[in-house]
Amino acid sequence: MQLDNTVFILAPIYFWSIRSKSCDNICNLNIEPNQISSVSLQLFINNQWQDAVSKRSFPTINPATGEVICQVAEADKADVDKAVKAAREAFRFGSPWRRMDASDRGLLLSRLADAIERDTAYLAVSDADSWVQVFTVCVCMCVHRYCAGWADKWEGKTIPIDGDFFCYTRHEPIGVCGQIIPWNFPLLMQAWKLGPALATGNTVVMKVAEQTPLTALYVASLIKEVGFPPGVVNILPGMGPSAGSAIASHMDVDKVAFTGSTEVGHLIQQASGSSNLKKVTLELGGKSPNIIMSDANMAEAVEQSHFALFFNQGQCCCAGSRTYVQDTIYDEFMERSVERAKSRVVGDPFNMKTEQGPQDQFKKILGYISSGKREGAKLMCGGGVAADRGYFIQPTIFGDVQDGMTIAREEIFGPVMQILKFKTLEEVVERANDTKYGLAAAVFTKDIDKAHYISSGIRAGTVWINCYNVFGAQAPFGGYKYSGNGRELGEYGLDNYTEVKTVTIKVPQKNS
Ligand code: NAP
Ligand code: MG
Repeated sequence: MQLDNTVFILAPIYFWSIRSKSCDNICNLNIEPNQISSVSLQLFINNQWQDAVSKRSFPTINPATGEVICQVAEADKADVDKAVKAAREAFRFGSPWRRMDASDRGLLLSRLADAIERDTAYLAVSDADSWVQVFTVCVCMCVHRYCAGWADKWEGKTIPIDGDFFCYTRHEPIGVCGQIIPWNFPLLMQAWKLGPALATGNTVVMKVAEQTPLTALYVASLIKEVGFPPGVVNILPGMGPSAGSAIASHMDVDKVAFTGSTEVGHLIQQASGSSNLKKVTLELGGKSPNIIMSDANMAEAVEQSHFALFFNQGQCCCAGSRTYVQDTIYDEFMERSVERAKSRVVGDPFNMKTEQGPQDQFKKILGYISSGKREGAKLMCGGGVAADRGYFIQPTIFGDVQDGMTIAREEIFGPVMQILKFKTLEEVVERANDTKYGLAAAVFTKDIDKAHYISSGIRAGTVWINCYNVFGAQAPFGGYKYSGNGRELGEYGLDNYTEVKTVTIKVPQKNS
């Protein structure tokens, strides 16, 4: 239901039993069914809800039905200018935010996590293309709580330089941070960016993806509710080429943190180079190898490899999208993987039995499936549309995939698994590295020597051994090569939001 600048969200009852084990401990949902909450559909600038300067808005679409949910205000350059001005003012030396004790900054972030926990049910359904988003609400709380803990522990060093001097470093916020996020995990991507930026005392202008503005706007209302000063966080729904590029090229933005495609990552880096050399961190695409050795536990390897690729409809930057299987177990692995994929339940994203909801890049994914067939890969299952309305695609597996095929080289971002055969350890490491990407990789084996050989040899920011998609707020994540630069999460993630200042004081050697 939509009224003026608000859309009402009904918290459905069936979210209670969350299937992810890691969530069970964290999410203690205790919300009455059929509660209603609302989301503002305007821009969030300086803790105020505002129409776009242009008065334009754009539709948010439910990918399960293709229907319009509501219209959201559309920011462009003029709104970015307003938001940057507010963020700059909030960052002014002596402002409430700059004068705030670090422990109080941590407290605000903790309160934000508490408010997110309270409203889990609403956050889980806004922008959701599957129940997977419930899981991301839980992880999002963990990220904010982890960052909250760092706020008053982000210490510099004392440095023993030569001479009669006392030298120390201060870890200071960078300033106004532009943040541009994608649609595939809207809430999580927002937390990964906001948590470290706010814990370290920066101010933020965030452009959220055009497909998923609602969760971000809901969190904006919580940011205001828990007491962040005006201008510290500004949230702008809008389009990449207008609002996004205005942030990337803005002369008064000190840093831009981007998550999205490698293609747009290039544009962001160039915009920094041709404007004010703002700092840039990039979390980009991937084509991650998942290596199954012949000694692996077969049942585990099949299930985890399925999860590695199909989780979140295959819309994961780190999806295990090149599954390399050792020749002696190839046939059995293929047979069991096909059986598993065929059993995958596709449909209504809010039915708890559903494993796979609708896709965002529907046509593009179907194009890749055609290219796989055309270039000679063997279609083992799926390969088509899974419903007569909405954007659903059958879980698809290609066998006999060769390294040079388009489906083995390009990111598909959909439920399409590529299975490739290999003979030796040395060969598979070389082939796994033969990609422009370097985001993640995995190996399934019982042999610790093989696991070490592969984890040392692979050029990627994350290597999982006998598991996949395991994330912790404490552990850094990011890419080698075209998969990006900088790291998010963990201590390394906070580092990317900090300037280091060296302060040197002359120490008199006698009383004068
Ligand atoms: P995308 O097209 O690169 O968009 C990402 C964000 O950038 C969106 O907010 C988008 O706005 C904005 N954008 C588009 N053009 C821009 C421009 N010229 N200047 C500034 N901003 C611009 O990516 P996507 O298709 O939404 O997301 C999927 C991609 O993201 C995949 O390649 C995936 O691998 C990557 N990804 C990486 C990670 C990671 O952590 N490494 C995580 C998730 C996704 P619009 O909303 O208007 O498009
Ligand atoms: Mg886009």
